[in-house]
Amino acid sequence: KKVVIVGGVAGGATTATKLRRLDEKAEIVLFERGEFISFANCGLPYHISGVIEDRQKLLLQTVEGMNARYNLDIRNFSEVTAINREEKTVSIKHVQTGEEYTESYDVLVLSPGAKPIVPPIEGLKSTNVFTLRNIPDMDKIKEYLEGNQPKNAVVIGGGFIGLEMAENLVHTGINVTLVEKLPQVMGPVDPEMAAIVEDELRRNGIELILGDGITDVQDNGTKVVLESGKVLEAELIILSIGVRPENKLAADAGLELGERGGIKVNEYLQTSDEAIYAMGDAIEVTDYINGQPTMIPLAWPANRQAHIVGHHINGRKIAYPGTLGTSIVKVFELTAATTGNSEKLLRRLGIPYEVVHIHPLSHAGYYPGAEQISLKVIFDKETGKIFGAQAVGKDGVDKRIDVIATAIKGGLNVYDLQELELAYAPPFSSAKDPVNMAGYVAS
Ligand code: FAD
Repeated sequence: KKVVIVGGVAGGATTATKLRRLDEKAEIVLFERGEFISFANCGLPYHISGVIEDRQKLLLQTVEGMNARYNLDIRNFSEVTAINREEKTVSIKHVQTGEEYTESYDVLVLSPGAKPIVPPIEGLKSTNVFTLRNIPDMDKIKEYLEGNQPKNAVVIGGGFIGLEMAENLVHTGINVTLVEKLPQVMGPVDPEMAAIVEDELRRNGIELILGDGITDVQDNGTKVVLESGKVLEAELIILSIGVRPENKLAADAGLELGERGGIKVNEYLQTSDEAIYAMGDAIEVTDYINGQPTMIPLAWPANRQAHIVGHHINGRKIAYPGTLGTSIVKVFELTAATTGNSEKLLRRLGIPYEVVHIHPLSHAGYYPGAEQISLKVIFDKETGKIFGAQAVGKDGVDKRIDVIATAIKGGLNVYDLQELELAYAPPFSSAKDPVNMAGYVAS
């Protein structure tokens, strides 16, 4: 069997190694448009500030290393430009030499990811405006910082990447203004939880402008004009207002797309052509809680989907039940995390819900270093079904959200949270853990 994979990072590279583990003989060809495969996208903001000092640490695998270790045929600098479904071939263009050729497949796997959204504003083409998706993007930002020593920056977009970039720029000594069109940062959480994050941003010297978007960028990228009429001086602009699925290949090939452009797949991640699978940031998924189609560009789903696709190609059926959207971000001394649906999303969908808010300590108050956690759990009063949870605090936030995410996937309801027997000693928790406490308060 010959499997051709498009995209060599989270989903694509994982699929390739999974396939090799499951089948020693399969012919596996992977095309990656860029130079690098299997790099750590999630680490990029942290190398810009030097928190992750060694650039090499972000390059998890080399083409040669991975080919040798897994007996793969990985071709970088190779863009797949078309899919011919009738003939079962793909067209490839070598991005450096321009050489074009075709390659046949029995099974095709698409993991092309998503690209940063860039609104059609001429000034965003200025040389001091950057988006961040891959190693070359990171290198360009770092080079600009070193070459120009900017004293101020405007980060546009208060999502995960915007927040991480804002923090890392502050670490390099730059004055940062963060502009967000919504009235809050961190879209997936509710406003009162985001407010804690916003205080932390301000406490660390970031000027936060909420409920205002950009309309124009002028004077070679040195002036950012906002909808309110406000004009910001900018030596550096980071544009992080979200991503759009890389769906051109799929669309041109006539594969079905969802309303927001994500490639449509079934529970086994097959597209409308069963010989073609798709995964990762490029696909539309089902929201695990409310069953609606959605787009959730995160690394866990891409990895999980790669595993499922690898197995399906080898005859084992594991269904993908949808995405919960569990996510986490560090904002200076705080951690903010969420899983499942927010209150505002449920309200929009007209789903009735109940909420508990608690503010316990991360561990026993008499042991040094205990910090308050703001924990919110959203559930159905009738059935106890957990719709989602959000937490913000300095310590122990990741654990509580991960426990609740596990409870949701395990089918536990909010009242069952009382019964979770969790590890306790004073440096780690309390005899009644915050997660237990949420269960008690809910009942
Ligand atoms: P990608 O990993 O983006 O890989 C797609 C690859 O396909 C790209 O390298 C692209 O060049 C290639 N490609 C596209 N089209 C073609 C073509 N036609 N031919 C050949 N190659 C092609 N997620 C988290 O869960 N936690 C985090 O902390 C986190 N931090 C992030 C920080 C940053 C700065 C970024 C950019 C992303 C972060 N993410 C994080 C998101 C996570 O990286 C993605 O969800 C994940 O990489 C998606 O995997 P993918 O395989 O769908 O796409």
